[in-house]
Amino acid sequence: MTDLAIEATGLVKRYGNARTGRTALAGLDLAVERGQVFGFLGPNGAGKTTTIRLLLDLLRPTAGSLRVLGADPRDSPKTRGRVGYLAGDFRIDGRQTGHEALTYLGDLRGGVPAARITELAERLDLDLGRRIGTLSKGNRQKIGVVQAFMHRPELLILDEPTSGLDPFLQQRFVELVQEADGNGQTVFMSSHVLSEVQRTCRRVGIIRDGELVTVADVEKLRRSAHRTIEITFASEIDTAVFDRLPGLQNVTVTGTPDGGRVLRAILTGSPDTLVKTAARFEVTGLLAEEPELEEIFFTFYGHGSHTNGTKGPAS
Ligand code: ATP
Repeated sequence: MTDLAIEATGLVKRYGNARTGRTALAGLDLAVERGQVFGFLGPNGAGKTTTIRLLLDLLRPTAGSLRVLGADPRDSPKTRGRVGYLAGDFRIDGRQTGHEALTYLGDLRGGVPAARITELAERLDLDLGRRIGTLSKGNRQKIGVVQAFMHRPELLILDEPTSGLDPFLQQRFVELVQEADGNGQTVFMSSHVLSEVQRTCRRVGIIRDGELVTVADVEKLRRSAHRTIEITFASEIDTAVFDRLPGLQNVTVTGTPDGGRVLRAILTGSPDTLVKTAARFEVTGLLAEEPELEEIFFTFYGHGSHTNGTKGPAS
C-alpha cells in the first residue's frame, strides 16, 4: 500500500475547446502523505477547486494521472465511504430536516451511530430538528461540516470549508481538524483563512496559474512572513536600541499628545528580541498585524510576479 493519500502527476485540466478554452491546471504534481494535514493555498482562479473536483471524480482530467487513497478517482465508488468532502457552499435538499439528511448520508457511508451525529451537532450548536431550507447559510454549512466528519473518513477533502461560519464556529471547526489529525486521518484543505491554516496544517502547497509553485512547512512560511508592528510606550524611549534588531525594518517613532512614543515597524521572523527590547520601557499598547495570505505570497514571490518555476523556500 502506498503511503500517499493523494498523488497527482502532470495533471492537466482544460475547460472548453483548445482554441477558446481555458487551462485551469497546467501539469500539477502533488503528493500528500497519509496522516498529513495539508493546506492547499493559492490566489483566486489558481486551480484549487478544479484540483479538488478532479480528486472527487466530479471532473475528469485532460491529461496526467491521479491516485486517491491508492485508487483512480474513476473507481471512486470503492473509496467513497473512506472520503469526507465539504465545499464552502454546501448544498442539500432543503425539504429534509438536518436529522433526516444526516441519518440518510450516514447510512450511505456504512452507518454512522446516531450519538456521533448528535455529538457533532451539539458541538456546532446545530438544531437537527429544523428543515434545512429554513436554515441560515452558516447553519446549512454546519450540516456540511457534520456530514464530512461524522464517519471519521481516512481522507477529508475540504474546499474553503469555513466560508459562512462565524469565528466561534471556525474555532470549533479547527478543533475537528485537529482531532482528525490526532486520529491519523489525512486532511486536504483549501482555505483563504491563514489563521485556520496555521493552526491546523503542517504542510502547505501553493498553487499559482495551475501549477504547484512550492510546498513548505507552515512554520517556515510563518517565520518568513512580514508583520506590521505598533508598540506604544508611556514616555520617551531610546530609539537607537531598536535600529539594529534582527528582522526589524522601516522603524519609525512618533510622539503622542501625552508625551508617549509610538514605534511602528515591519517585523520578519521571531518577535522574541523585539519584545524583550521593548520590555526595557513601559509598554502601554501593542499591535501585531498578521499578514494576509496574499501578502505572504508576495513575500515569497515578489509583487505580481508570475515567473514560472520560481521556487519559495521549499523544504
Ligand atoms: P478561487 O480561490 O477563486 O475559488 P480556485 O483556485 O479554486 O479559485 P478554480 O475554480 O479551480 O480556481 O479555477 C481555475 C481556472 O479555471 C479559473 O481561471 C477559472 O476561471 C477556470 N474555470 C473554473 N471552472 C470553469 C468552468 N466550468 N469553465 C471554464 N473555466 C473554468
